[in-house]
Amino acid sequence: MKSSSEIVQDEVQLELKYCERCGGLWLRRAESAEVYCSRCTPEMAELPDPVGLRPRKKKRSEMQGVSELHAAMQESAGLSAGGLA
Ligand SMILES: [Zn+2]
Repeated sequence: MKSSSEIVQDEVQLELKYCERCGGLWLRRAESAEVYCSRCTPEMAELPDPVGLRPRKKKRSEMQGVSELHAAMQESAGLSAGGLA
């Protein structure tokens, strides 16, 4: 039998975190990425996250970022030129 001298790792590291919904202070696991307290987490899980709502579009805009910028520049250039002429 091994000795039971090393039971230190059973301890869970906690850190204080302000809930980003209700602003209440709560404890979360140090490795956790939760931003809402245990009361708000289930409520927020039911609602669509406005930030992570369109993961596809984000990827797309990354790819089309340059061409979109060019198009916008050409468009504005053409508009101003046409307006002036
Ligand atoms: Zn909360």
